[in-house]
Amino acid sequence: MHLARFPRLHLAHLPTPLEHMPRLSKELGAEIWIKRDDCTGMSTGGNKTRKLEFLMAEAIEQGADMVMTQGATQTNHGRQTAAFAAKLGLKCHILLEDRTGYQDGNYNHNGNVLLDHLHGATTQKFPGGHDMVAEMERAAQAKRAEGHKVYVIPGGGSNPTGALGYVNCAFELLSQANTAGLKIDRVVHATGSSGTQAGLVTGMCAMNAPIPVLGIGTRAPQPKQEQMVYDLACKTAEKLGCPGVVTRADVMANTDYVGDGYGLPTASGLEAIQMFAELEGILLDPCYSAKGAAGLIDLARKGAFKDQRIVFVHTGGAAALGGYDFAFDHGARWVEIGG
Ligand SMILES: *Cc1c(COP(=O)(O)O)cnc(C)c1O
Repeated sequence: MHLARFPRLHLAHLPTPLEHMPRLSKELGAEIWIKRDDCTGMSTGGNKTRKLEFLMAEAIEQGADMVMTQGATQTNHGRQTAAFAAKLGLKCHILLEDRTGYQDGNYNHNGNVLLDHLHGATTQKFPGGHDMVAEMERAAQAKRAEGHKVYVIPGGGSNPTGALGYVNCAFELLSQANTAGLKIDRVVHATGSSGTQAGLVTGMCAMNAPIPVLGIGTRAPQPKQEQMVYDLACKTAEKLGCPGVVTRADVMANTDYVGDGYGLPTASGLEAIQMFAELEGILLDPCYSAKGAAGLIDLARKGAFKDQRIVFVHTGGAAALGGYDFAFDHGARWVEIGG
């Protein structure tokens, strides 16, 4: 698979480490490894960096002087896009949808929002349930009327161009596993706008390496999530020149860990954050990676991964933690010693 024929900016810190998690594995009675895509670089990293290597290359190729994208208030994708734009000397505008209704000051101004602004991006707020695709088209037209050449990136960077970043991750992971002599039984990760899973599945299928990839949902119900991933995987396979390589049965999502909705922390997600932080020194975020890890932990406890070697792809997100401090009860960590 000749990925180098697609325009790409080599700005990510790759390959990301593939590490064993001995303490978490012992706790869960399964062999769990972690692919550190929280360490991809560009303003603390995360999964959007791999996608943006391809998307921003296309923006440059098309002569854009401005990029525009959209997401939830604490979008990691927006923050990573803002960092790329800063690095490349492009303007960046991010449309933020209030999907949680939180009035909390840190949620609305800290975490990723702070970083968006530090990278020089402008932001614009919309109420939840808005047609964000139409809003972004309107905003892009307004900027074009002012003479800007605008490159519009869909929410989450999830289109066939962005998904190439995760085709690349599938190649990278398989190469690491082959070099280390590590037979992988399953890949697990948090899925949202679907580009990550679509890219991973397409990459695995294109390499004839049928390692099951389980997406743990963070928003949509299962049939919709799987359909989104499958549709994007089919388009990505077409772009790669191997149409039809992904079958519907290759796409698996478990959406039992979404809780009350997108961006709303869950008890199982908060437990996952605590376990990863205290057992492995690794930070997760309440919106995505914690829900993915909650699925991993619960399924492992139920014996679903017995005698299997699992790779959890850490998609990042810890930059949002400062916007979610209200979700954590950490009062008991303040102690008086010698007083
Ligand atoms: C965007 C995101 C995801 C979901 O990835 P998709 O490609 O949108 O499915 C998972 N984890 C984190 C931290 C994210 O920011």
